[in-house]
Amino acid sequence: MIEHADHAAITIYSMSKWFGTFRVLDGIDLTVREGERIVVCGPSGSGKSTMIRCINGLEPFNEGRVVVNGIDLTSKARILNSVRRNVGMVFQQFNLFPHLTVLENCTLAPRWVHKVSEREAERMALHYLEKVRIPEQADKYPRQLSGGQQQRVAIARSLCVKPRIMLFDEPTSSLDPEMVKEVLDTMADLAQDGMTIVCVTHEMGFARRIADRMVFMDRGRIVEEAPPSDFFSAPRHLRTQQFLEQIL
Ligand code: ADP
Ligand code: MG
Repeated sequence: MIEHADHAAITIYSMSKWFGTFRVLDGIDLTVREGERIVVCGPSGSGKSTMIRCINGLEPFNEGRVVVNGIDLTSKARILNSVRRNVGMVFQQFNLFPHLTVLENCTLAPRWVHKVSEREAERMALHYLEKVRIPEQADKYPRQLSGGQQQRVAIARSLCVKPRIMLFDEPTSSLDPEMVKEVLDTMADLAQDGMTIVCVTHEMGFARRIADRMVFMDRGRIVEEAPPSDFFSAPRHLRTQQFLEQIL
């Protein structure tokens, strides 16, 4: 029986996944408490994106269990919608709808999936656009915005369905360097507000600033987990040391 920790937002127990004969995730164990901020790093191809996608049901897995906000993803019921309702996800690519304005991008899911009234959806959208500091862009189209602004719209859009957990998968890695900070600052604001966050990123300054815990993945496994102070000053595993030497 899985030990479901008190106030666990996410519990992953012995989760494995194959792509054909390739074992992309190999016995992942991870518990994320409510309000905890986790930064995931590791070499390209180590399974970070796949793990994140398993957490919000975008990918099936083959073994183990994943429990998100008390919902067991291994159960047969069609529970994915209720999981996704509670989990916001922001990708490297912003995935905004190009033919909709910023405001319409933000109100789409609340109005049509969650049946919120138009007025209330717009009120929430403006609230979150203010939160990411671009309320003045509400009537523009994505192509009229910079990459950093588009990514902040993507964050606001995720927040509009009031998720309890936010997942980020390398949200700044397709941005020009001068736009990275504004997106990291937006995420730091969320962390400040107590949001549960799992973020894949190689922005180690940001990680030091917001992470309660660092998770290092290599070849489908979690090799090391530690608070940032220990992780950066005294990584225990050779692979972690090598990785940090390459990126720092
Ligand atoms: P990361 O995000 O750490 O770079 P990924 O989770 O994207 O790693 O990918 C892990 C491994 O799984 C890589 O070797 C990748 O090529 C492989 N992979 C990812 N998605 C698929 C897929 N849909 N089919 C087959 N192999 C995949
Ligand atoms: Mg990835």
